[in-house]
Amino acid sequence: MIKFCTLFSGSSGNSTFIGTDHVKLLVDAGSTVKGIERELKAIGEDPSELDAVLVTHEHTDHTKGAGALARKYGLKIIANRATWSAMEKDIGNCSDEQCVCFSSSGGATFALGDLDVEAFPIPHDADSPVGYSFTSRTGRKHKVAVATDIGHVTGEIEEACFGSRAILIEANHDIEMLENGPYPRMLKARIKGKNGHLSNDSCAGLAAMLAAEGTDAFVLGHLSEENNEPDTAYASVRKALETAGNRIIEYGDVIPPEFFGEDSASAAGFPGSGKGVILSVAPRYSHGKVILL
Ligand SMILES: [Zn+2]
Ligand SMILES: [Zn+2]
Repeated sequence: MIKFCTLFSGSSGNSTFIGTDHVKLLVDAGSTVKGIERELKAIGEDPSELDAVLVTHEHTDHTKGAGALARKYGLKIIANRATWSAMEKDIGNCSDEQCVCFSSSGGATFALGDLDVEAFPIPHDADSPVGYSFTSRTGRKHKVAVATDIGHVTGEIEEACFGSRAILIEANHDIEMLENGPYPRMLKARIKGKNGHLSNDSCAGLAAMLAAEGTDAFVLGHLSEENNEPDTAYASVRKALETAGNRIIEYGDVIPPEFFGEDSASAAGFPGSGKGVILSVAPRYSHGKVILL
C-alpha cells in the first residue's frame, strides 16, 4: 500500500509524503523542520522513520528545510546533478553518503525500497527541474505522481503521469486574476511563460486526459496566493472532469484503499453513472487528504 499526502503546498513551501511499509519519502522539503515534523505527526508518521527527500528543483519553496531535516534525521537528499549544483549552497553540510545524484541532469528511473521511481523533466525556470512518479513493486502495483512547477504540459509529462491512480498537479493561477492582478508585467510574463507555472485551465485539460487513462484522485497544488482561490481552481478542474464524463465523489479526509479497487470507483460501492473521481485542493500550510492505495 502507498500512502500519499501533501504536507504543504504553494509558493510559501512544498512537501509531499509518499510512504509504504518499506520506505518513507518526501518530495521536496520547502518548509521548516518544525512544520514538516508537525504535519507528518498529524498524518500518523514519525519523522525519524523517513529515508530520503527527493528534490524537484532548487527554488527555496522546495528546498528550505531539506538540509536541516536531512542532518537531524540522517536522511538522503536525492536530486540530479544540475539541481544539486544549484541548491548546494542552500542545503549546507551533508555527508557524501547523504547527497545522492541520480543523473547529471533531467530524468532517470531508479528503485527506493519497494518503489520504482521515475524522475521526469518538466519545463520550469530552474536548472533541470523534474517531477516524480512512484510505482509500488509489491501488492497492487499502484502508481502516484507529483507534477508541480510546470510552465506547460509536455508529452514527457503526460507519458510519465499516465496510469497514475493519484496525482498532485499544479493549478497555479487563474489567467484572468493573473492578468488583472497586482504583479508587475515582467513577473506576469514569467508565470504565464512556457517555463513558468500551470494555469487552472491547463491543469483542467491535463486532469481530464489523465482521468481517461485511469487516474482516480486529483490533488490540486501550488496555488498562487494572489492569482488564484481554492474554489476557483477546484471549479475549473471539476468542470473539465465532468464535461469529460467523470463524476466527482465527495469524500472525507482519508481516502481508503477500497476506493482504488480492481474495478473503477463507480463500481466499488460508489453508485451513479460515469467514472467516479476524487478532487481536492492541497492546503497551503497544512496537510491535505490522506490517500491510501
Ligand atoms: Zn515552487
Ligand atoms: Zn519553482
